[in-house]
Amino acid sequence: MKSKQLLITCLWVFLATFQVAAQVEEYPFTYSLGQINITLLPEGGQQGSKDILIGATDEMLKQYVPEGTFPNAVNAFLLETPENTILVDAGFGRKLFAHLESCNKTPEAINIILLTHMHGDHIGGLLKDGKKSFPSAILYIPKPEYDYWMSDQEMQRLPEDRRGGFTQARRVIDAYKDKLELFVPGELEGTDHEIVSGIRGIAAYGHTPGHTAYLLESEGEEYCIWGDLAHAMPIQMPYPQVAVTYDTDPAKAVESRQRLLKYVADNNVEIGGMHIEYPGMVKIKGNAADGYRYILTCTCEGVLR
Ligand SMILES: [Zn+2]
Repeated sequence: MKSKQLLITCLWVFLATFQVAAQVEEYPFTYSLGQINITLLPEGGQQGSKDILIGATDEMLKQYVPEGTFPNAVNAFLLETPENTILVDAGFGRKLFAHLESCNKTPEAINIILLTHMHGDHIGGLLKDGKKSFPSAILYIPKPEYDYWMSDQEMQRLPEDRRGGFTQARRVIDAYKDKLELFVPGELEGTDHEIVSGIRGIAAYGHTPGHTAYLLESEGEEYCIWGDLAHAMPIQMPYPQVAVTYDTDPAKAVESRQRLLKYVADNNVEIGGMHIEYPGMVKIKGNAADGYRYILTCTCEGVLR
């Protein structure tokens, strides 16, 4: 009996410890880039399955995804610049509002929302009971992305039971229609296409027709929030040619990934990604010929908010 009690106590202590560890992982994490504070708003970690991968050979899988799964997550980002309080994507909206509150930000305080694209795990937090969750914000959508989700022709190419994404994107567009800004993303090297001060939209098409990365610049340093440029980091960094079934145009998604990876590795640019495991931020090393690798940004105590 005594040993049974001990076992239960041990189990309880183990579970309590584990829960604390899990809770720590839920905290927003802030990185400073010159005058911009970039805060990860994690919506929760999960495991991705090798079944979503396109073009991965058995050899690649054996080396980089031996268990058949890889770490994944859903993230949004808060940007505090000298001029603006910006949300980049809105996740599912599960933990988003609690995280914003813990950063002392009300939904009304967000004056700009930048979307990388309009999949449900990026726009879920934009509506509450059919109304906009961020009443003061201007919603920036890449024009090719807007055109795709608003196209009846594109919608009708899908069977009726798979058109939910179109319905959701159109609801968001309708709710924010009085504060909507469409923009055309630019190239990595260009200096125009600034959407708001210090932030440029970079065309990274393929995952969706208008998928866009955001390049931030402050005090001579750059940071890239690359949206869904990668979903399976352990295999898509060494082999950027591996695509995922979620990509609208897998070949184009591969080309965008290769182009951006070269830029951020060559220029030592820190990354924030919507599906990178906690803390959602990495540095990319390597090159196209030998493959890339990634180093998760430190979550050492004292750096956490
Ligand atoms: Zn996504």
